[in-house]
Amino acid sequence: MILSQFDEHSVFSQLDAFGHQKVVYCSDPGTGLKAIIAIHDTTLGPALGGTRMQPYKSEYEALHDVLRLSRSMTYKSAITGLNLGGGKAVIIGDSRLHKSEALMRRFGRFIENLNGSFITAEDVGTNPRDMEYIRMETKYVTGIPESIGGSGDPSPVTARGVFMGIKACLKEHFGNDSLAGKSIAVQGIGHVGENLVGLLRNENAKVYISDIDEERLGQVAQKYGAIAVANNSLFDLDIDIYSPCALGATVNTETINRLKCSIIAGSANNQLADEVVHGNMLLEKGIMYAPDYLINAGGLINCYSEIAGFNKKKTLQMAENIYDATRRVLQKSKLENIPTNEAANKIAEKRIEDIRKIKASY
Ligand code: NAD
Repeated sequence: MILSQFDEHSVFSQLDAFGHQKVVYCSDPGTGLKAIIAIHDTTLGPALGGTRMQPYKSEYEALHDVLRLSRSMTYKSAITGLNLGGGKAVIIGDSRLHKSEALMRRFGRFIENLNGSFITAEDVGTNPRDMEYIRMETKYVTGIPESIGGSGDPSPVTARGVFMGIKACLKEHFGNDSLAGKSIAVQGIGHVGENLVGLLRNENAKVYISDIDEERLGQVAQKYGAIAVANNSLFDLDIDIYSPCALGATVNTETINRLKCSIIAGSANNQLADEVVHGNMLLEKGIMYAPDYLINAGGLINCYSEIAGFNKKKTLQMAENIYDATRRVLQKSKLENIPTNEAANKIAEKRIEDIRKIKASY
C-alpha cells in the first residue's frame, strides 16, 4: 500500500491529485519568509505564475491554493498558445504587516536557485515594488515597472484580449463580429473594465456599466458615453452581452436564471460559481460563455512579451490571437455539445500532450 492512501491531506497525496512536477518549501526565519513554490508542468516551457501573499489559516490551505492556482496556469498558457508552463507561489503572511525588502529578496534567491524553471510576477498581495526587490536577486521575474525596462500595467492588453474574445463570440453567434448596435453590460470599470468600455464605444456598442465606486462610475459614463446602472439591476437588462470585469462567481444559478443575454465574456477570474454545474446550465440555456482564463490571458501575454523582449505593438497583436483561439473553443463546444470551459480544457490538454510527444523524440 502506498503512503498517500493513508492521509488525503498529506503533501504527497495532494501532489498526486494535482499532478505536479515539483513543490518547493522556502523558509527563512531571519526574514520571516514562509513560502511555497509549485511547478505544475513545464512541457511547454518554464512555469510562469504570480506570487500571492496572504495570511493563510494553515499550511494545508496555502498548499492547496498554490497547487490549484499553478495547475490553472498550465491550462492558461497552453490554450493561449504560449510556450510557458504553469506555476505559482504563495507567501504566507499579511502583506501589510509582514512584507519587507529583505523578505522579498530572500524569496528572490529561492527563485534564482530554480535556474529558470519558475518565473514569477505580481499577484494578490504583491506589487511592482516587490517585483523590483525580487529582480535584485534573480532575473526570473516579470511584470516589473516600465521605468526599469519592464512591460508595466497589463490592463490595456487584457482589455484587448477580452475585446477580441467578445468579437469571436459575436462571430460565432450572429455570423459577424460587428459591435455596432449591440448592447453590453460591463460589471466593474476598474483597470480592465475602463479600457474595455473605451474599445466597445469606439465600435459604437451600447454600453451599460456598473461599479460599487459610484464616483468613478459617473466619471467613466461621462467620459465614454456609457449608461451607468445600479449593480443589482445589471442581470435584468435586455442586452446581448454580459461582461464580468470585477469579481468571480457572478455567473451562478440565480444570475443565469435572470440573465437575458446570449453571450457572457469578461475579464474576471473564476466567473462560474461552479465550473461543472454552471458550465452545463449555460450550455442548456444556449448562452455562449467565453472561458475566462482564455480571454483574460492578456496579462500573461504581457509577461511573456517582457521575457521575450517584444514591444507593445507585438504584444497587442498577440492578444488579438485570442479571437481565433476563442472561436476554436466555441466551435468544439458546439460540435461535441459540451460546455465551452470543458472544450477549452480539452484543447489545452491536447496541446500539452502533442508537444510532450515531439519533445520525447530528441
Ligand atoms: P480593478 O481592481 O482595477 O477593478 C475592479 C473594479 O471592480 C473596481 O472598479 C471595483 O470598484 C469594482 N468592483 C468591485 N466589487 C464590485 C462589485 N461587487 N460590483 C461591481 N463592481 C465591483 O481590477 P482589474 O485589474 O480591472 O481586474 C478586473 C478583473 O479582471 C479581476 O477579477 C481580475 O482578477 C481580472 N483580471 C485582470 C487582469 C489585469 O490585467 N488587470 C488580468 C487577468 C484577470
